[in-house]
Amino acid sequence: MSAKPDYYDVLGIERTAGPDEIRKAYRDLARKFHPDVSREPDATARFQQINEAYEVLRDTDKRANYDRFGHDGPASPFGAGFDDFGGIGDVFDAFFGGGRRSRPGAAQRGTDGRVQLQLEFLDSVFGVETTVTYHRLEPCGTCAGNGAAPGTKPTTCGACRGAGQVQRAQRSIFGQFVNVTTCDTCGGVGQVVESKCPVCTGVGLERVEVQRQVRVPAGLQPGTELRLTGEGNHGPRGGSPGDLYIGIDVKPHPVLERDGDNILSNVVINVAEAALGAKLEVETADGPMRVKIPAGVQAGTPIRLRGKGAPRSRRSGRGDHYLFVHVATPTKLSRTQRQLLENLGETLPGGSDSGGRSFVEKIRAAFR
Ligand SMILES: [Zn+2]
Ligand SMILES: [Zn+2]
Repeated sequence: MSAKPDYYDVLGIERTAGPDEIRKAYRDLARKFHPDVSREPDATARFQQINEAYEVLRDTDKRANYDRFGHDGPASPFGAGFDDFGGIGDVFDAFFGGGRRSRPGAAQRGTDGRVQLQLEFLDSVFGVETTVTYHRLEPCGTCAGNGAAPGTKPTTCGACRGAGQVQRAQRSIFGQFVNVTTCDTCGGVGQVVESKCPVCTGVGLERVEVQRQVRVPAGLQPGTELRLTGEGNHGPRGGSPGDLYIGIDVKPHPVLERDGDNILSNVVINVAEAALGAKLEVETADGPMRVKIPAGVQAGTPIRLRGKGAPRSRRSGRGDHYLFVHVATPTKLSRTQRQLLENLGETLPGGSDSGGRSFVEKIRAAFR
């Protein structure tokens, strides 16, 4: 995934900037960092960033898309370098009389897509086969991806005669040399589109909704991303598709919690159950299960249910389920209950400070 600077930062403007402000910021910066005039060491890279930022922010739709999704927006066809796209050329030509640069080798790979998948808790534990629905860029159905209006075809670029590259003799202090560069007119494709496809405005891509089957493996750790190779956005003009990254959101379970390979839950028992022990039905990943609470269990003690956790992601077997025992102190007592507890209290040791023993030992001592 790209770690590109924020477009607003690149142009040094507020997120609320209007079209005039954007244009002015672009003009000033483009003049300053144009590689032909700038002496800054990173002028070329800066210049490219500035143009990329402007290309997006000047266009209402692209800007809205960027504001919403950032650089990796699911609908952004403009990930890697849109200097191949045509629109930017107009801007360049207006300012500098050509000089648009792009890398040789026409078809560029599409950007990676991203989608969030909502899973039920138990599906995230045991794995599930499910469907994701998302949008991606595919070759435009109207022009078959070549960007030309119906009834027309891309024509061979006159500037490079279809080669996609031009040779230019350049003079320098070391003498004359031949510089091979990507053709400015066609962006290296070797073909130009004279009348643009109205559906994709010549880009050759359209946004379509697609569905894909996904197998979520058992024991998937929370926060893990799944990747579907080649299921991201197609690149313009036959560029191969990027990948699809699937983020996983797990819906909380009413009772169970995940802790790595283990599952945790709480159980509340009363004072008598704590002292005498109990058999309770508790919820586990495998459904309800009868569990024996030992007599004399201490508040906060975990009871381990072996092998009732999540399947281990890289090893065989399953983690454990830890049941945390909470003791509810009664707050509303009937006369009889009060009498019984008072009688009980007379037979038990009273509270005292720990006398240097640990807190847990103190509690244990109180129940001996
Ligand atoms: Zn089209
Ligand atoms: Zn050309």
